[in-house]
Amino acid sequence: MTETTTPTAIPSGRREDEIQVYDLHKSFGEREVLTGISLTVHQGEVVCVIGPSGSGKSTLLRCVNLLEIPTSGRVFILNEEITDPDADVDAIRSQMGMVFQQFNLFPHLTVLQNCTIGQTVVKKIDKATAEKIALDYLGQVGLRDRADAYPAQLSGGQQQRVAIARALSMDVQMVLFDEPTSALDPELVGDVLDVMRRLAESGMTMMVVTHEMAFAREVADRVIFMDGGVIVEEGDPDQVIGNPQQERTRTFLQRVL
Ligand code: ADP
Ligand code: MG
Repeated sequence: MTETTTPTAIPSGRREDEIQVYDLHKSFGEREVLTGISLTVHQGEVVCVIGPSGSGKSTLLRCVNLLEIPTSGRVFILNEEITDPDADVDAIRSQMGMVFQQFNLFPHLTVLQNCTIGQTVVKKIDKATAEKIALDYLGQVGLRDRADAYPAQLSGGQQQRVAIARALSMDVQMVLFDEPTSALDPELVGDVLDVMRRLAESGMTMMVVTHEMAFAREVADRVIFMDGGVIVEEGDPDQVIGNPQQERTRTFLQRVL
């Protein structure tokens, strides 16, 4: 009798394992869009997820912070199970920033207010401290001088940098990015990727769904290629992007490179 290789659903307990996903399945109606995903993201690691449209990349990220409820499987964040029915989901989620393709800033709030409202409402931090923290992060993304502007007064690239500053202002342990540059005009992509590159160099744990292959190759510690709801191939970026072993990976890369 052969032993199955179903991954165990036990958190490692290692401080450095920030995201652990075990045999994750997700269906929408009859259609299973994730069919058994297991992965671990370590502290300070940058993992880029690539793959064709519809392969389940966004659904995977959304299951990690429980914006989607997995059909089965378990997800641990910093060794706490977010998929446990008794989990304090808000508390676990507060460790994770999320940056979307559409920046989702509050249009009626200034840049500074966008970066303080989560701190004051969710974390109960006083306004002066929240502003100091927000201005520090706005400085890091090069937008301290636009603190009093409204989102509509900024370019898409600037808005996305505000969204990153907003996520960081919540003092998160990790940031999940879902195609953060896909909605941007090409000339605005570079500034956002520069901010992400610096964030990666600072040691932030990042899971990044992206079509920016040059970024993935340069910045990622590990690249995961997804297709049809499964991980087809993963490994060192130079390996997965530069010398893919699987036919499906090669076909995808030929189309995007
Ligand atoms: P990707 O991000 O890789 O493009 P998605 O995770 O967005 O892929 O989608 C995977 C599949 O799941 C797609 O076929 C998509 O149409 C489907 N899907 C995603 N979200 C929903 C939803 N809320 N309801 C029904 N189907 C969905
Ligand atoms: Mg997507």
